[in-house]
Amino acid sequence: MTHKLYYEDTYAKEFDAEVISHDGNKLILNQTLFYPGGGGQPCDLGSINDVEVVEVIEDGENIIHVMKEEIADKNVHGILNWDRRFELMQQHLGEHLFAGSLWTLHHLHTDRMRIEGDNVSIDTDKPADMNAILEAEHAANESIWKDIPVEVIYPDMAEVKEHARKLPPENAVMPIRIVKVEGVDYVPCCGLHVSSTGQAGLVKITSCENHKGGSRIYLKCGRAAYKWLDSLYAEVRKAESELVCGYEGINEKIMILKSQIHDLKAHNEATIDRLMKPIADNLIQNAQNGIITHVMHGSDQEEIKRLFRLLTNENNGIVSLLAGVNDSGVFIIFGTHKENKNIDVRPAFKKAIEILGGKGGGSSFCAQGHGKNSEALNDALNAAVNAIKS
Ligand SMILES: [Zn+2]
Repeated sequence: MTHKLYYEDTYAKEFDAEVISHDGNKLILNQTLFYPGGGGQPCDLGSINDVEVVEVIEDGENIIHVMKEEIADKNVHGILNWDRRFELMQQHLGEHLFAGSLWTLHHLHTDRMRIEGDNVSIDTDKPADMNAILEAEHAANESIWKDIPVEVIYPDMAEVKEHARKLPPENAVMPIRIVKVEGVDYVPCCGLHVSSTGQAGLVKITSCENHKGGSRIYLKCGRAAYKWLDSLYAEVRKAESELVCGYEGINEKIMILKSQIHDLKAHNEATIDRLMKPIADNLIQNAQNGIITHVMHGSDQEEIKRLFRLLTNENNGIVSLLAGVNDSGVFIIFGTHKENKNIDVRPAFKKAIEILGGKGGGSSFCAQGHGKNSEALNDALNAAVNAIKS
């Protein structure tokens, strides 16, 4: 049986122990500071006699330390990765403060807390709206600033039932371990926490999504929250510098840029249409047997599509077979006015795109795609013209 030193002093970083059993790289000690994980908190890591501890597992009364290599020593000295443990304790308490506040303020029950790297997530039983979440975040931070002691108590079941925001599982071992923060939270928990709320540092909500009829809320606490805000601020500074404004002006500048892009796009389309109009009129006048074939060299796809629109926006019965060639290959677009039910361009398109070694598709009145064999373009267009004629 392993004596659980981690429950006696959550701030101890090193310990001595004797090996009581040893199976390959799995080590059982008479006592340990290594928390095996539980209640959503991952296990501790660190080293034993300078060999890395890669996993810690609870096995009945024993704690198994999975070592990177086998250790033959009888007496050992263990050292925790303290930064990791401290951050996990900050995150775990931060989650209690937030979940306790969400329960007190909005009667939202939370479940399935999980700490994964710098992220804490919890699920609520009912949908949580953002205002309620942010109110609870604020209350959690208020409790941090009050620096309230975190107590671990073992009350009787009647008291647990009266005060706890959730009940322990049916198979819980008595006595029930309660983590209590006066005025904020009272909950059964097997995890480790910092000893006062102030040390949780900060609780910051980062996102929320719908999950199984409730919400999944993501938060960051303590050092992880600070690191996140630091990287967020670095991004904000870049945006401030690019947009030449303070952070309060970023959104307004983005709205202005979006509206300018919209206007420029409309202007660009109108200019292309104006330049293409005489070409389109000429092509319509000279259509052979109601078919237009036209190849544009060095034009981008947008220009070809604008020309296609000019050629097909009137129901004149004409079929347009357009192609654009540039360095990346060949783009084709075949079609007619959408009310022209006598024509289905797909068989012609299929033949042409096969010859071009490309891919694409569409409807009976408009099909488009890209191919690589631009040298086969004449063959492809001839095959398409024959297919339309037949
Ligand atoms: Zn907990």
